[in-house]
Amino acid sequence: MKKILKKKKNKKVKKEKKILSQSPKGMHDILPGEQPWWEKIRKVSKNIADFYNFLRIDTPIMESAEVFERSGEATDLVEKQMYFVKTKGGDRLVLRPEGTAPIMRAYLQHGLAKIGQPLKLWYFGQMFRYEQPQAGRYREFNQIGFEIIGGKEEPIYDAQVIVTIYRLIEELKIKNAIVQINSIGCRNCRAVYRKKLVDYYKNKLDRLCRDCRRRFATNPMRLLDCKNEKCIAVRAGAPIILDNLCSYCKTHFKNVLEYLDALSLPYVLNNYLVRGLDYYNRTVFEIFVEDSNPEASRVGGGLAIASGGRYDYLVEMLGGRQAPGVGGSLGVERLIEAMKLRGLSVPDKNGAKIFLVYIGNEAKKKSLAIIEEFRKADVGIVESFGKESLKVQLAMADKKGAEMALIFGQKEVFEDNIIIRDMKSGMQETVPLAKAVEEAKKRL
Ligand SMILES: [Zn+2]
Ligand SMILES: [Zn+2]
Repeated sequence: MKKILKKKKNKKVKKEKKILSQSPKGMHDILPGEQPWWEKIRKVSKNIADFYNFLRIDTPIMESAEVFERSGEATDLVEKQMYFVKTKGGDRLVLRPEGTAPIMRAYLQHGLAKIGQPLKLWYFGQMFRYEQPQAGRYREFNQIGFEIIGGKEEPIYDAQVIVTIYRLIEELKIKNAIVQINSIGCRNCRAVYRKKLVDYYKNKLDRLCRDCRRRFATNPMRLLDCKNEKCIAVRAGAPIILDNLCSYCKTHFKNVLEYLDALSLPYVLNNYLVRGLDYYNRTVFEIFVEDSNPEASRVGGGLAIASGGRYDYLVEMLGGRQAPGVGGSLGVERLIEAMKLRGLSVPDKNGAKIFLVYIGNEAKKKSLAIIEEFRKADVGIVESFGKESLKVQLAMADKKGAEMALIFGQKEVFEDNIIIRDMKSGMQETVPLAKAVEEAKKRL
């Protein structure tokens, strides 16, 4: 085969290159200085998940659009907030906007029911929603989620998910979190309630916001949690779902609350909590942290940092045989925000306690081998190659908050020694190089 090589004559267009120094709107870098917060949260969530026996699962960042379209037909999330990705092969994919539907897809695909009844799964990862970015709300954000799938529709599982999430918040030292909880019934009782709601709202549409007028036709339950003042005023006379639950749903909800009572977990009933997705039934909850800082008071005097609920119909919506499920997730960015607002701190791993100072080329050469000795002993050590003067290096050690400096100069190279300097007192001591790790460890 003959390849035709075309010589393209690049027209040299002299154009000044724009400096690309802006991440996409609503998406953020997690810079080195922020990483200790993330590490802390990863560690705490893993410990909590391990303790309560949740197994880790990771699903792809993208899913077939249908996974979400089927599970949340008439929701804002599906109608307005999904990022579509068109592939060359013509697949309709989306960047996942939430974690539960993909997990249920994986549950069906791999027949995970055989691993456990119920099966407890957890995840940590990015989600994407196209919405107006606000403080603490991003288009790319991270969630930690816990799901209990299969088994029976036991109310104790609802409580277990809530407790797991609550303990995670507590472990991060975020105090006074409050669970808001509601039941949105099952297919049977919700249909009856929905009709009452439509009857109530149908001649009040002109008093509602535009979104709610649209929601009235597609998903009237969502009228209850609209944050628009006009809509809040109208809903005051609306029928309450708890008064309309069937006896099964009533008992289920009562039991969930009893389990929470048994743990003295603080909760309040919120009749207007309905959650943004179609697939929820019975228990729905959100967890708020109270904040004295008015800036943080976005929703009802607090910051919502976790939410979830029961989703017994989700598997069926995805085409599988019905299997009950309950789960919830936490927003990682919001957790970090809440921790910072409380003045909490996390240990900075970069602040190693030992700093290696070298003087001269010979010492510099041997420094790498010294660092290796510390690595083998699993003792952290930092250096600043490129800074040649003793004074500058000691200043660096100070800046990094090192407790001691190991000074390796020409004389020490020659004598196979190293100086250990206490950064606080300035006291120095010469020790054999072969014992550097051991001696440094003693002084930590
Ligand atoms: Zn019911
Ligand atoms: Zn509204």
